[in-house]
Amino acid sequence: MSELLENLKDVEKNIEASVIKGKRNREDVTLIAVSKTKPVDMIKELYDAGVRDFGENYVQELVEKTEVLPKDIRWHMIGHLQTNKIKYIIDKVYMIHSVDSIHLAQAIGKEALKRNMVAKVLLEVNVAKEDTKFGFTSENLEENFKEINKIEGIEVWGLMTSAPYVENAEENRQYFVQLRGLMVDLKDKGLYNKNRFFLSMGMTCDYTAAIEEGADFVRVGTAIFGARNYV
Ligand SMILES: *Cc1c(COP(=O)(O)O)cnc(C)c1O
Repeated sequence: MSELLENLKDVEKNIEASVIKGKRNREDVTLIAVSKTKPVDMIKELYDAGVRDFGENYVQELVEKTEVLPKDIRWHMIGHLQTNKIKYIIDKVYMIHSVDSIHLAQAIGKEALKRNMVAKVLLEVNVAKEDTKFGFTSENLEENFKEINKIEGIEVWGLMTSAPYVENAEENRQYFVQLRGLMVDLKDKGLYNKNRFFLSMGMTCDYTAAIEEGADFVRVGTAIFGARNYV
């Protein structure tokens, strides 16, 4: 077995252990293989092993990959998105995880309406309050959620966060508990009325804790593909 498939197997084992610990169902947790900077042949190998969800951060790279890879891949846009680039990806992605302003949400809605579609989005929350990260704050999420929920052409399905890089997943558990709490608050206040919501949380360093705390999507890059070489 290739190193890539060995890695996938290890991640899958960890996911299964966390699912049991968190009293979850395996089918309620989607592993998104974060393939940014990684070549299409690696993606194809994972696809052949059954992976259908891939995450990308950069618009041009995402578009190039969608053109050559199987059409039933669900592409997740997880990186910061500029409004002028929405048009390139809106009909190619399954979900946009990184909506971090009303302005961006409005622009996505506008592009979606032009194409007679509804874009599924998550709102990004900077629960750990890191200066380097995008997203709403835990404090201003509710007012922004209310506004964004009114926009035509988009559907808000939940929340996303990127926690700090840590050596021990336990250190980030608090942020996953907080993100879940924010979603439960929105529901309790009657602001979110779909019966299922989605939490996108957990990366290589902390996906095990995230699953235990209710992650529906985990976004795992390095643990599957190995370290990224940025040029
Ligand atoms: C790159 C990236 C990931 C994957 O990170 P790893 O640490 O390699 O698992 C997940 N989420 C976002 C938003 C990213 O940019």
